[in-house]
Amino acid sequence: MRQPLVIGNWKMNGSLAFTSELLHTLEDRIDDKISCEVGVCTPFVYIKLATELTANSVIKVGAQTVSEFKAGAYTGEVSALMLKELGADWVLVGHSERRTLFNEVNAALVQKVLAAQSAGLTPVYCMGETEADYKSGHTFSVIADQIGALLDSDDVDLNNLVLAYEPVWAIGTGLTATPDEAQKVHAFIRTLVKEKNIKSAEGLRILYGGSVKPDNALSLFGQDDIDGGLIGGASLDADAFISICQQA
Ligand code: PEP
Repeated sequence: MRQPLVIGNWKMNGSLAFTSELLHTLEDRIDDKISCEVGVCTPFVYIKLATELTANSVIKVGAQTVSEFKAGAYTGEVSALMLKELGADWVLVGHSERRTLFNEVNAALVQKVLAAQSAGLTPVYCMGETEADYKSGHTFSVIADQIGALLDSDDVDLNNLVLAYEPVWAIGTGLTATPDEAQKVHAFIRTLVKEKNIKSAEGLRILYGGSVKPDNALSLFGQDDIDGGLIGGASLDADAFISICQQA
């Protein structure tokens, strides 16, 4: 049985005041009676504050990206060890905005997953097809390529990993894959992982992301291979995020 997981991706939003207010509200209202695991991925600069504010709650904090390098002359980068020291538990790797706006490619993303795991973080490896891929029927080949890069590495620990399927055309657009469409992709991902390691595949959580809102969360999370959500816009609104967590 996989425990559902809901992670909020705040992207480059917020301020000190916003971060503190939202986390106080979440901390007050999300308690250990909630049956899903809950995470928030804040901008780097708010991670320390977020871990302090959530220290007595079930909420775990994460980052939105990480360097593939351990240390050294990499101006502007933040290492996995630094994130761990700040108290982070998760890190997103390969979010579509990183892939498209910052040219992050599979080979570097695998290194980021490895860097995160060796520092004791759990990477959330994101995959998804563009609108053009979707319309031309290439969803499954794109996903196979993205997960394939990870599965080709024998060093990736499949037991300390979360996957997220996020169709790019659904992110921040108000469009979502139908529960049935999403389930097919999630089942496909799990099958590919099974070919590498059946036991890990069964325990592996695969989140769905792309305009998840309180009114569509239940039908998505009700699918066999959808183990929770990666939530962008709705994670900035306490009522919406809490409702999504309750539905998970
Ligand atoms: C995301 O950025 O990961 C995301 C899913 O965004 P939204 O929920 O706003 O579509």
